[in-house]
Amino acid sequence: MSDVRNVIIIGGGPAGYTAALYTARANLNPLVIEGFNWGGQLMITSDVENYPGYADGVMGPTMMQDFRRQAERFGAEFLTDDVTRVDFSERPFKVYVGKDEFVADSVIVATGASARQIGLESELRLQGRGVSYCATCDASFFRDKVVMVVGGGDSALEEATFISRFASKVYLVHRREEFRASPIMVDRARADEKIEFVLNKTIDEVIGDAKVTAVRLQDTQTGEFSEIETDGFFVAIGHDPNTALFLEQLDHEEDSGYLVTRGKSTETNVPGVFAAGDVQDHTYRQAVTAAGSGCAAALDAERYLSDLRHAALTATSSG
Ligand code: NAP
Repeated sequence: MSDVRNVIIIGGGPAGYTAALYTARANLNPLVIEGFNWGGQLMITSDVENYPGYADGVMGPTMMQDFRRQAERFGAEFLTDDVTRVDFSERPFKVYVGKDEFVADSVIVATGASARQIGLESELRLQGRGVSYCATCDASFFRDKVVMVVGGGDSALEEATFISRFASKVYLVHRREEFRASPIMVDRARADEKIEFVLNKTIDEVIGDAKVTAVRLQDTQTGEFSEIETDGFFVAIGHDPNTALFLEQLDHEEDSGYLVTRGKSTETNVPGVFAAGDVQDHTYRQAVTAAGSGCAAALDAERYLSDLRHAALTATSSG
């Protein structure tokens, strides 16, 4: 078996890198298997203005590089690849990247969540250039501008109402007439004079070269196409936690797949395996809350490892 590490961190977003920083500073020599596309959701965010400490704002990718560099400074090791399998059935835990096996006495799962995308080529091309997946992050860039929000759940209705504080006009586009969102959220949006409901429409294309200028819609009943000019296009059709690797071994919410942690801790149902950040939080989903959760996971892992060493020493001295 390869050398047993103290801790392996799976995931390279705010939670994973903060866990790396704390465990590195605690001399636990963490290995961060950060994913081939490290950085998480911040990599598709342009300006971040709500992360404390960056008084002048920062680009999402720059912020993630800063997080990574800070952890590296204290000795965190990185593997820029994707975990393909885990075995948490006994300690030390096994984490695989293809055929390579890594083993550790504790694991912090920080694989995050992904905003659902519509899947259009034009949507991907204009990400960060008018296409956004986070109203809390980006609404203020659309002061006195026209914005479109797509979705019919609580997120879309909440985002439309939030964005209307800044924008001059908000189109809420939904593919049906009935809303999945709670009636109170729908009523609140309907009462907002800046919000116009555009129903029974799917998104055919996001239009624009350097930035979004319009969106082409298709009517689900007549098949007809129409275009609406807009500066921003907010996709609010839900998030999916990146938990496929863990579902057989870690407790999770049946319907959503989010990992379940105990009380205020980051403990999962497997002692020694911790979960931090968006992979276990569908409520707050902010970089700063994910970072806080990564810190908590590092402290939980540190305490767990210390108890483990203490128990081993006691067993040796009494044996
Ligand atoms: P959601 O409830 O799953 O709603 C997703 C919406 O996006 C649905 O209306 C769906 O349409 C639409 N959609 C999905 N794929 C689409 C596509 N390809 N093109 C166009 N539209 C598409 O997700 P959510 O709104 O993010 O909410 C997730 C959970 O968080 C819910 O339980 C919600 O109640 C909760 N939440 C609560 C609050 C709050 O209480 N303040 C705020 C936000 C979220 P269909 O309806 O046609 O399927």
